[in-house]
Parts: sequence; C-alpha cells; structure tokens
Amino acid sequence: MVLVCVGLGSNVGNRASNLLCAYDRIVALEDVQPLKLSQFYETQPAGGPSQPMFLNAVLSIITAISPHQLLEQFQRIEALMGRVRTVKWGPRNIDIDILLYGDEVVDDDQLKVPHPMMHTRLFVLEPLIEIDPDIVHPVLKKTIIQLYKERICLNQANDFPLISS
Ligand code: AMP
Repeated sequence: MVLVCVGLGSNVGNRASNLLCAYDRIVALEDVQPLKLSQFYETQPAGGPSQPMFLNAVLSIITAISPHQLLEQFQRIEALMGRVRTVKWGPRNIDIDILLYGDEVVDDDQLKVPHPMMHTRLFVLEPLIEIDPDIVHPVLKKTIIQLYKERICLNQANDFPLISS
C-alpha cells in the first residue's frame, strides 16, 4: 500500500461541488482508502488563456493501485464528470493529477510522477502542507515545507527585483 497525493482543480461550473464529486468518486474506487482532504484554495489560473479563478485542493489516499492504473481511473472519472479536453491549460470543470506516489519516480509518455510542476505551484504546495509538511519530494530530496518556503522567497524576489546600476 502506498500513500498517494492527488491534486484536484476546477474553474468551470460549481467548483466546490466538482471537487467534492471527484473526491466521492476517487474514494469509492476499489482499493482506495481516503486519508485527508485539504481545504479548498481559490487560486489564479497558471498559464493558458484568460480564464476564471480555480478552486484547488489536495487529497491523500492509501492504495495498492499501480500509478498507471490510477491515472487511467482518474481520467475515467474526469470523463464521467464531462470533462472535455480543449485548450492546453484552459478552463476545466475538473482536473485530477497524481502529485506524489509514495517515493516512486515515474517518467514516461503517459505519466510523470512527482508531477513535474508541483514544486513550482503554491496552489499545490499550500494544501500539501496541510496533508503533511514533512513529505519528501523523491527527486528534489526536499520536504514540502522547504519547497514552499523556497517558492515564497522566489515570488517575493520577483515582486521586488534588485535594481542593478
Ligand atoms: P491535464 O490536461 O493537465 O489533465 O493533463 C493530462 C495529461 O497529462 C494526460 O495526457 C496525462 O497522461 C498526462 N500526465 C502526465 N503526468 C501526469 C500526472 N502526474 N498526473 C496526471 N496527468 C499526467
């Protein structure tokens, strides 16, 4: 059994109800035990076209389902919930990502775990702190709280760029 952290996002329709519907469907899967669901965070869209604000959350589960089978199950849930893939990084009623699969690293055409963008996104790191700030990123070898602090510092540095003469 492995601890898996799952990212949930929605910016179309009733966002909270979409996240809760995805939660219900994920924890109803055979061989999935829910551990913790973070609060919901309202966040600015990262990249893509101009679009509404997102609601994001992270869910932790314990499962024996393999990473690829889990991705398949999550894509099936997205499809059942009526997700239509349009523009990359565009609006979506539900997005389900595998952020971490224990300390396993997967890197192929279908699946990349840890999720390649997770350490750059405050809307992932902040809810992950609620799940467990001491989880170690298996590639970067840093805890979630370390990654969060680094990202906050980086954002502040960008807000106040050093003026060179
Ligand atoms: P998205 O449009 O953000 O839902 O991206 C979906 C695509 O990302 C699918 O084609 C997946 O095969 C791929 N993918 C790669 N790594 C992951 C991951 N860790 N979690 C979810 N989808 C992933």
